[in-house]
Amino acid sequence: MEYDEKLARFRQAHLNPFNKQLSEQQHEQRSGEEAPDPTAEEAPPELSPAEPEFRCTECVMDLGLSEDHFSRPVLRQAIEECKQVILELPEQSEKQKDAVVRLIHLRLKLQELKDPNEDEPNIRVLLEHRFYKEKSKSVKQTCDKCNTIIWGLIQTWYTCTGCYYRCHSKCLNLISKPCVRSKVSHQAEYELNICPETGLDSQDYRCAECRAPISLRGVPSEARQCDYTGQYYCSHCHWNDLAVIPARIIHNWDFEPRKVSRCSMRYLALMVSRPVLRLREINPLLFNFVEELVEIRKLRQDILLMKPYFITCKEAMESRLLLQLQDRQHFVENDEMYSVQDLVDVHVGRLSCSLTETHTLFAKHIKLDCERCQAKGFVCELCREGDVLFPFDSHTSVCTDCSAVFHRDCYYDNSTTCPKCARLTLRKRSLFQDPGLDVDA
Ligand SMILES: [Zn+2]
Ligand SMILES: [Zn+2]
Ligand SMILES: [Zn+2]
Ligand SMILES: [Zn+2]
Ligand SMILES: [Zn+2]
Ligand SMILES: [Zn+2]
Repeated sequence: MEYDEKLARFRQAHLNPFNKQLSEQQHEQRSGEEAPDPTAEEAPPELSPAEPEFRCTECVMDLGLSEDHFSRPVLRQAIEECKQVILELPEQSEKQKDAVVRLIHLRLKLQELKDPNEDEPNIRVLLEHRFYKEKSKSVKQTCDKCNTIIWGLIQTWYTCTGCYYRCHSKCLNLISKPCVRSKVSHQAEYELNICPETGLDSQDYRCAECRAPISLRGVPSEARQCDYTGQYYCSHCHWNDLAVIPARIIHNWDFEPRKVSRCSMRYLALMVSRPVLRLREINPLLFNFVEELVEIRKLRQDILLMKPYFITCKEAMESRLLLQLQDRQHFVENDEMYSVQDLVDVHVGRLSCSLTETHTLFAKHIKLDCERCQAKGFVCELCREGDVLFPFDSHTSVCTDCSAVFHRDCYYDNSTTCPKCARLTLRKRSLFQDPGLDVDA
């Protein structure tokens, strides 16, 4: 029963780490024992790294079947039927001769159709892409090179494991775009100017990617602007896909998806979970403007203060508590780097919910469930009263030099010295100065 009592007290104090941090009215709805709103968790994911919410709004629908309308299975069937007919017809008859001629034509046709790529290796490396031959027959995809449909049933096709570029095997050798995965590893920094336009003239009235002539009048072909690069592209390189733009989030807290080129779309999708944004440096004002970010920052700081408990606690290591954050590893490493996905999740309210849950789970282990961790709490040396304190408790202050923990009120009232640091200084002095005194004496 004692545990239940402790649990109730723990809940009172720690379910909401902000109950003493921020103004009461701002966070009224969060106080008490209410669990985080479960419906918020069910919100559809805005962007997932694998298949992000980029939509192809205008795909060219060429059936791509003309050259293959006699597909190989159909031809083989026809050849078998033709052979049967020849056997059944009277020997040396005109009809049989016609059938033989037909058989020869069918066989030639099959020879012609025989896919030269059938015997190709499963992996092809081109312009830093790593293309794997696709096994799936039933799906209908669009080729990123020729913009026509890939008919999985009768056509061989490849997907790059790095950037998910997909194309017909017949288009492989025509590819001119290098894999954006390498751009992600070499140039892991976003363009942080909003749609940095320089104008069509600076592009020589050509597509920024394939150099095809373009203009805004659509002659000889339409120029489409990419909101991420600010450059113009032809309709082959820009399919009017939609993506949220990092620069617009950082400067305007604007999550409205904009039209981007194929290449930007792939790059943004690969970058979405990478913690490359140091918000405090890029736009410190954001923390004044977006209240949720302050909350997230405090939660992240607390989690970093809890981490030393976990990496020295066998039980916590065994129960893999820190793996709670495995999808956001950077939250266990620092409190300042953000990914675009983090910001999208902050915006929809999902991150604050899940991080508060993690915070509660962690605090529960340290303060309630684990004796070993509990033993590493602090007694306020300034008043020597009250409960055991932990550095992540909301009403505490931590000495930056020795990490001793005090009541916030005690520490600020007595802001002159930390008693532990004073003791340490005294001890050091006696160690180094006493022998000196002895020599003098
Ligand atoms: Zn193609
Ligand atoms: Zn690739
Ligand atoms: Zn182009
Ligand atoms: Zn523990
Ligand atoms: Zn105190
Ligand atoms: Zn100290």
